[in-house]
Amino acid sequence: MPIIYPAKIIKNDTFVRVEHEIEFFNETDYPSVIWYEIPVEFENLLCGDNMNGIVIAVLPIAMILEEKLVIKGKLSPRLLFGLREYQRVFHSILKDKINFIDIEPNALKPDLPYVKNSSAISLFSGGVDSFYTLYHHNRQNEKVSDYQISHLLFAHGLDIKLEEQTIFERVFENYNDLANRLDVHLVKMKCNFRRYIPDYSMFHAPCFLALAQCISKNFSCIYIPSTLSYRNPAIWGSTIYTDHCFSTEKTFVFHNGANKDRTQKIEQLIFWKETYSHLRVCFSPNIEKNNCGKCEKCLRTMIPLNNLGMLNRYSVFPQKILWSLITMIFFSRKTISPHFYHTTMIQCLRRGKILYLFLLCCFWCKCYLYKRFIPSHKNIYDLVK
Ligand SMILES: [Zn+2]
Repeated sequence: MPIIYPAKIIKNDTFVRVEHEIEFFNETDYPSVIWYEIPVEFENLLCGDNMNGIVIAVLPIAMILEEKLVIKGKLSPRLLFGLREYQRVFHSILKDKINFIDIEPNALKPDLPYVKNSSAISLFSGGVDSFYTLYHHNRQNEKVSDYQISHLLFAHGLDIKLEEQTIFERVFENYNDLANRLDVHLVKMKCNFRRYIPDYSMFHAPCFLALAQCISKNFSCIYIPSTLSYRNPAIWGSTIYTDHCFSTEKTFVFHNGANKDRTQKIEQLIFWKETYSHLRVCFSPNIEKNNCGKCEKCLRTMIPLNNLGMLNRYSVFPQKILWSLITMIFFSRKTISPHFYHTTMIQCLRRGKILYLFLLCCFWCKCYLYKRFIPSHKNIYDLVK
């Protein structure tokens, strides 16, 4: 059984590091200490004596190993209830991969009561979904003060891996300037949570929400920007079915933005000039630019921008969409859900971009056929869609 021990706090002039020793029943290669760090200036956000956040981070590996989770500390009753439901959802669909396990805290203690003048924190990567949520719930546009975004959580060790230190620092400085202009705090957090996750695409949401719950002392709400829409939901890393399960009595987790698909979000974001020099969607970012302009996700963003006549405003992308790159992606082994192309195809049709439409139709067919008929291309995401 994984046993999570109480926190050990290490503090210096620049950051606070919180460590929990973790012990597995069977011998494993997983680290024996799970940790996260936060700059000293945000120390007041740390939750103190509960273990709500760290339990969320460890739950996926406990489910995969089928080991009871023992917590040497306090847990929110609301969260314990939610974690059971989270397990039910995943176990009901992936019975042979993900198990239902018991969670045993030393004690149950409701999260702090409602905090007056509280606000919201949003997970932030700089992508289309992050900017969409930030735009709609910033201080200017969100009318309910408790749900106005005052902080953005920017994580090092998750989407950007721990070893990618230089890239992280460059991107962070870029977004920190933006955050100052928008009057929000960009909270830099570092952690080793990803080391416990064998399938990151399936469990990235618990990693991010674990970090957010670790610093949720003054927040009514944690926004997690949606990837998929209500019209095309799926069970994977972050989902409308389960993200709310990571809420406590005080801090509600809100899966946000699923009323729009990716193409519709881009159609709104082109009117926000801040995105022109800050949008970052790339699978393979390099040190020079936010986006390579060559990978599937870059192209999937550049084509709608080009259809709208706005690609030339975005300095973070190359200004030309090369047909050779699109062809290379078509013949690569990588496949994703065909859903991601569907709405862009409709936009191409409406805008009369017949050549793009033809190429995207080819992608759509390839992804659909691979997903259905070639087992080696059935990743865990395809299996559950
Ligand atoms: Zn790229």
